Amino acid sequence: MNKYVIVLIALSFVLSCSRPSYEIVSFQGPTMGTLFQVKFVKTPELQALDKAKIENEIVQLLVDINQLMSTYISDSELSLLNKSPAELPFSISQETAYVLQEAIRLHNVTQGALDITVGPLVNMWGFGPQQRPETIPSSDSLEEISEYVGIDKFTLSDNTVTKEHDMVYIDLSTIAKGYGVDKIADVLEKYGINNYLVDIGGEMRLAGQKPNDQDWRIAIEKPITRERAVQRLITVGNNAIATSGDYRNYFEEDGVRYSHLIDPKTKKPIQHNLAAVTVVASSSMTADGLATGLIVLGKDKGLEIANDNNIAALFIVKEDDEFVEYRSLSFDETVKVLN
Ligand code: FAD
Repeated sequence: MNKYVIVLIALSFVLSCSRPSYEIVSFQGPTMGTLFQVKFVKTPELQALDKAKIENEIVQLLVDINQLMSTYISDSELSLLNKSPAELPFSISQETAYVLQEAIRLHNVTQGALDITVGPLVNMWGFGPQQRPETIPSSDSLEEISEYVGIDKFTLSDNTVTKEHDMVYIDLSTIAKGYGVDKIADVLEKYGINNYLVDIGGEMRLAGQKPNDQDWRIAIEKPITRERAVQRLITVGNNAIATSGDYRNYFEEDGVRYSHLIDPKTKKPIQHNLAAVTVVASSSMTADGLATGLIVLGKDKGLEIANDNNIAALFIVKEDDEFVEYRSLSFDETVKVLN
């Protein structure tokens, strides 16, 4: 063995002995009718970080977002807006105005499929805070509701909303979980944390890597109801990922499946064979809203809009007894598929 090799072996031994430990810190808890989860890598330069302080800040942040945007809290800002009379300008926080603005933008991108005024329909079909109705809503009752469903039934000007009808009811369920994920990511980054995974009820945002230079791996679920199985294992880089599907939140009557995803055009739960849509985007709020909008559109129109707007989207369609995947061009460019 020559001197050069001995020096190299010695050097690698010293390096491996002095290699700092990279610990994953994690915490979780209930929020928004589901669970949140935070994981981050505590690199050597973050040793002084106080986990309890960050956790408390995030828990409080989620309480605040719920108090602003939940339709499940009767005195949240959104609930008070929903109960406010027509024609009376109602002041809202900058946070809620920001989320409303993005919802309106995504309404346009999805050609009306994402519509946060579907709240009364969501409730009528039994997927909101109220109890499920005994019977399937009649065509007449759905028609009646149309009077106050539509993105043009309210105006947003700076931080003020004016409803056109007393009954206009805004539901941010499709987008506010993603907003929460983005805000948690902001808190982590404020503390200099650049390697993390944030999750609220399946809406995720990822940055950096796990210890040992491993990418965060995400499993996309097979859209089946009876068990949990993996359809795809992927990595998404520094991005958010959101999935909308009709296979978890639904009820069946007379052999028909009614899911929580409402098509604003028909005013009924979607009835096509597109079982799930996954979207990858830099913002979790955007991914969350787009996944819902694209699944409502169906595979053909959804894929067309995804390609026209450079949206990274995976469509899983039930064809005969198989799940068939359709990917937008941007999905193939953004996502690394591992299996
Ligand atoms: P997504 O696809 O992300 O969203 C689907 C939801 O959006 C539907 O359930 C419906 O509400 C709405 N929607 C349906 N069709 C459309 C459409 N065409 N356009 C726009 N929106 C549509 N649930 C509870 O049980 N208890 C709670 O206390 C509770 N609190 C919450 C607080 C907040 C701030 C939020 C955002 C949600 C809360 N939820 C609560 C709701 C619950 O977590 C929802 O099931 C969830 O937000 C829906 O997410 P998803 O990922 O299942 O579906």
